[in-house]
Amino acid sequence: MELLDADFVTTDPAILETYRYDQAGFCTAGTPLALARPRETAEVARVLRFAHENRIPVVPQGARTGLSGGANAVDGAILLSLERMDRILEVDLDNHTATVQPGVINSVLSRAVAEHGLFYPPDPGSWEMSTIGGNVATNAGGLCCVKYGVTSDFVRELEVVLADGRVLRTGRRTAKGVAGYDLVRLMVGSEGTLGVVTEVTVALRPSAEKPLTALAFFAASRDACTTVSEFLGTGRRPSILEFMDRPTVEAVSAYRDLGFPPGVEAVLVVQSDRGAAAADDLEAFAKVARSCGATEVLVASDPAEGELLIEARRLVGIALEKLGDRLIDDVCVPRSRLAEFVDGVAAIAAEYGVDIPCCGHAGDGNMHPNVVFDGSDPDSVLRGQSAFDAIMALGLRLGGTITGEHGVGMLKRAWLETELGEVGLSVHRAVKRALDPLGILNPGKVVRLPGVD
Ligand SMILES: Cc1cc2nc3c(=O)[nH]c(=O)nc-3n(C[C@H](O)[C@H](O)[C@H](O)COP(=O)(O)OP(=O)(O)OC[C@H]3O[C@@H](n4cnc5c(N)ncnc54)[C@H](O)[C@@H]3O)c2cc1C
Repeated sequence: MELLDADFVTTDPAILETYRYDQAGFCTAGTPLALARPRETAEVARVLRFAHENRIPVVPQGARTGLSGGANAVDGAILLSLERMDRILEVDLDNHTATVQPGVINSVLSRAVAEHGLFYPPDPGSWEMSTIGGNVATNAGGLCCVKYGVTSDFVRELEVVLADGRVLRTGRRTAKGVAGYDLVRLMVGSEGTLGVVTEVTVALRPSAEKPLTALAFFAASRDACTTVSEFLGTGRRPSILEFMDRPTVEAVSAYRDLGFPPGVEAVLVVQSDRGAAAADDLEAFAKVARSCGATEVLVASDPAEGELLIEARRLVGIALEKLGDRLIDDVCVPRSRLAEFVDGVAAIAAEYGVDIPCCGHAGDGNMHPNVVFDGSDPDSVLRGQSAFDAIMALGLRLGGTITGEHGVGMLKRAWLETELGEVGLSVHRAVKRALDPLGILNPGKVVRLPGVD
């Protein structure tokens, strides 16, 4: 086949193997036909035209840090990695925007604009690895989204290669604009099922002040959750407001002894980057936390001391990794229902006999229960899967959503149908059919087209 001879395409099985999976638990991957690593939009368009003419599935990939199987291979697919399209095309200092290719790593963009006194806020925990294209395709969030918003709040303009190889430019670089449907919002978070993002213009902000940090310890997780809603209810807007439950704190302490007091059931980490007003914000937080039952509140007196306090949150990922196989889940509930969610997850862990450390972006109500299981033990896997389903059901029951930031991918496709309902699902399918009638774009992910995939 003509495309397979192109110099940016390989069919080497050893290379293909290393591109089959993202980082999701409980997700399978098929055997791909080829891997394309284009360097420019024209090559992406060539892949899509070829795939469309020959009805071959295409799986777009960024850095494969995804946690829902969205970038996993499907049988007979062309894996379309955007990793080589990694140039920052422009930082526009007058208009506070940056235009990048999709393979630019989030931290590379963040550091490049910081040199100009500018700030790109969406900061997923994977910011040193994940790509802007992947962040756009999943509408990634992160720690400081509680104050600044998620990826979709920053995307102004996109170049997208459509399923048949046509190139769409949509959105605009201006600060405002309402001409036509908001196709940018439609594409953001569409997980490679509606088009392939080949260029992104994002809005930037002036750099934030160095933050101050506080840590609050609680003897009951319910008290920590009440603190979150009461503190945000005062109208203050922290730049970070993170939660860790006891199993998470225990994992962190086992990894590195940070001298936490005994009997801790939950910890909140809060930052304010409001310069001279930051100390006042943290004092207000400490007052609310104490009134809600915090056993101890530590407030850093300067940013350097704050770095020591935030260490606890930074170590969560690596500390939980040491626990073994795990599914990093992602549910967002109204902040006022956080306590019920955290208690519910603890009850599910007890019911199914699995460990589920729970942490997350409490300020957004976006929690990450980590279902720990033993992949070599079928019974443990089964109990883990049952616990996962129970967490999905709990999130929906509390008025939340099955995913706050990691996306649907393969992992949550069945649950998406439950969340959307009949009418929502039919509208999703109509959109998918309009943009990808042959169902070649990332089939098996997000929405199923009956009769096509
Ligand atoms: C340690 C760790 C911490 C994480 N922390 C966070 C967090 O705080 N917040 C958060 O939101 N996520 C987090 N994630 C999940 C993940 O990093 C994000 O979903 C990220 O946006 C994926 O980017 P990626 O480049 O790795 O994309 P991939 O995993 O390669 O792809 C993700 C999805 O996007 C599609 N895609 C990729 N590139 C394109 C493109 N150019 N055009 C169209 N579709 C495309 C893929 O088909 C797939 O469906 C974390 C993951 C890890 C491993």
